Amino acid sequence: MVSCEGNSLTVAKRGPWRDRWVSWGSVVALFAGVAVGQWLHSNGGSAEGWAAAGDLILIRPLMLVVMPLVLVSVITGVTSIGSPSRLGLLGGAAIVYYTATMIVACTLGAFLVTWVDPGGGVSPEVAKDLLAEGSSALSSNPSLAPRIQSGEAEGLSGAWLNIIRQVVPGNPFAEMANGRPLGIIGFALLIGAALAVACDRIPAARMARDAINGVYEALLVAVQWIIVLLPIGAFCLVVSTVARTGLTEFSGPIAKYMGVVVLGLLTHALIVLPIVARVGGVGRPWQFMYRCRAALGTAFVTSSSSATLPVTLEAGVEAGASRRATNFVCPLGSTVNMDGTALYEAVAVVFLFQFMGIELGMQELVVVVVTATLAAIGAASIPSAGLVTMVLVIGAVNTSLADPSKALPLGAIGLILGVDRILDMLRTSVNVWGDLVGARMLTPLAPDDDASSQSVPAAHAGTDAAAA
Ligand code: ASP
Repeated sequence: MVSCEGNSLTVAKRGPWRDRWVSWGSVVALFAGVAVGQWLHSNGGSAEGWAAAGDLILIRPLMLVVMPLVLVSVITGVTSIGSPSRLGLLGGAAIVYYTATMIVACTLGAFLVTWVDPGGGVSPEVAKDLLAEGSSALSSNPSLAPRIQSGEAEGLSGAWLNIIRQVVPGNPFAEMANGRPLGIIGFALLIGAALAVACDRIPAARMARDAINGVYEALLVAVQWIIVLLPIGAFCLVVSTVARTGLTEFSGPIAKYMGVVVLGLLTHALIVLPIVARVGGVGRPWQFMYRCRAALGTAFVTSSSSATLPVTLEAGVEAGASRRATNFVCPLGSTVNMDGTALYEAVAVVFLFQFMGIELGMQELVVVVVTATLAAIGAASIPSAGLVTMVLVIGAVNTSLADPSKALPLGAIGLILGVDRILDMLRTSVNVWGDLVGARMLTPLAPDDDASSQSVPAAHAGTDAAAA
């Protein structure tokens, strides 16, 4: 499959079988996983073994390559863009794109949840009972409770300070070991820019750049191998999620709340982002979406933009974004650009207030939109991160309320705990879709020249042909 002649790495053309297996295998895995998971749920079967198998087959192999890939993809992106002014233009455009689309997503979520009012009409007694149940579910959750408490203690300004500290890391190896991509991106931007300058003057620097390009290409080959595991991993992860939550358990306000989140996410993904893409010069946005299906499917089953990043980088280039734009926009976007999470947090917070009988006014809704955007930027790209940073939005709305006795207790988050994983699957796909649209839209600012588009052409040729 791979041949190394002298110094040049040549990746053999992939046959279309791989794409068929990944695409159709994942669809079959999804339906089969739902059926098996529901059967286990109804018969009291355990989800643990399936979760462990999915973790071992898909999530761990992806996590294995993600940190090295963030490092080398950003370095290759920056060195190939070269000029600091082009880099600044691309970086500025990416930040404007990320922020604008997240604000639109939050506003859409806040509008839908206020309009549908899924939490309205619940009697105070029922709300009180359910709140007590939710609080105890939350406090007995060993992985979430401490994260939520520390998020509350940190507050919005503390969370932001933390992000800024991460961007300028003291020790890049520690960031890598702790799986914090922002620090690695900060380090890679610095090294990439320095290498671009050094390459003009020092021959040895060119060797270092070529070596990093080689590592990047080798990592992409590894990603191609890992993607073959997608249908099997997806099956295990879907079985474990459905076995845990079941499909028919939800009714009343929680079912309506789920409906609003799903409606908002689908509207944003299928209507808003394609319109943004079209206005931004991307022809046939739905076709682009179809060609990105491997990344969207991986995000759906892993609920982690970070674990999905290796697939995102490959899918973006296969679907028509330039390698330079993809290598810059997607790693950064996977940690800061979270349209789905922003929309979800806005809907969830307004819903919880409605549930407790508190209708938020225009001023509080603006607080929700602004803080949900900031909280989503600060959310880690791992499962349930949006649930944790939601405390920041609740805290901000509580302090903006004229009547402090109406403040929402954090235990209310427990009400939506049971349905979080299912919604996480969809919002993570929307997060990744937002990154890919950004990469495609910003491609004219960082097009591949002949040399860079030739560097890994064969790795992508097979899928392009199959997807066309
Ligand atoms: N799971 C999401 C992601 O990785 C973050 C979240 O909303 O929880 O993109």
